Amino acid sequence: MQGTLADSVCLGVDVGGTNLRCAVVAPDGTILVRQSLATDIGSGRDAFLERLFSLMTTLKRAAEAKGKRLSAIGLGVPGLCSNDGVLRSSVNLLPLEGLNLAQAVSSVIGIPAVALNDANTSAVGEQRFGAGRPFASSLMVTLGTGVGAGLILDGRLWTGIDGVAAEFGHLTVEPEGRPCGCGNRGCLEQYASASAIAARASSTGIDAAGGKLDAAGVAALARAGNPEALAIFDQVGSYLGIAIAGVVNLLNLEAVILGGGVAESLDLFEHSIAAEIRQRAFPIPAERVRVLKGELGDDAGVLGAAATAFALLT
Ligand SMILES: [Zn+2]
Repeated sequence: MQGTLADSVCLGVDVGGTNLRCAVVAPDGTILVRQSLATDIGSGRDAFLERLFSLMTTLKRAAEAKGKRLSAIGLGVPGLCSNDGVLRSSVNLLPLEGLNLAQAVSSVIGIPAVALNDANTSAVGEQRFGAGRPFASSLMVTLGTGVGAGLILDGRLWTGIDGVAAEFGHLTVEPEGRPCGCGNRGCLEQYASASAIAARASSTGIDAAGGKLDAAGVAALARAGNPEALAIFDQVGSYLGIAIAGVVNLLNLEAVILGGGVAESLDLFEHSIAAEIRQRAFPIPAERVRVLKGELGDDAGVLGAAATAFALLT
């Protein structure tokens, strides 16, 4: 029995290093059902897949109970995911490396599935349902433990010939800078991620009194006027601005959308981003680009994964 597209819903899955978040999503971006589990990748590939498939089956039934047909599944995964759906490399999900997750899901659940990098799903989410809606071309940057990004050009996600484009977090901003897990040194991620902010706070000793500070803790200190904490966010903004200036000179984008935990503190570093863009980019792209906060928070990933799944149906 075939329903109409209006009866179709898709499952968006955000496979994080810590949490596995799922949402049953209607075509207009409404979340009908949501459920999360601990990723618990330490228990190995087979145990992880068994729990994933079981959760998917539960949510498929939950959709049916609401009179909807689960028609496709989209997955966002942390790591390099090639255009054919194979997870090429993932520091957080090592046991899944080499697996074609989309194919595995599709064969077990019996509906089409697609898998892509989680920063790309977040970019699609903001583009379709969030801060990216007014713009045809934007870069979505997720400032979390690492720095991920997804590039939307003329309304479409640009993944590059191999599926691994938009690694904005690994642009070099300091030629002789800190070593990065990717093998390069001086990558933006080493200066603008939540981990980098916490590490810098630790090295300045501002966290000595209250124990280890995370990036939100450093932001709270900055808001209270602590000069070292303010300087840390100035530096975050400068490095981001240097990288963004290069990107807008290359692509003349309409917007750069910042998501992830660190973006909650954008008010503390937007001035230093703007100063670098003004100083380093040509006036026309510098004046054009808007730098703004994402609107969807943690839901950007599941919504974008679902939107990518809907695209399989048309
Ligand atoms: Zn790197």
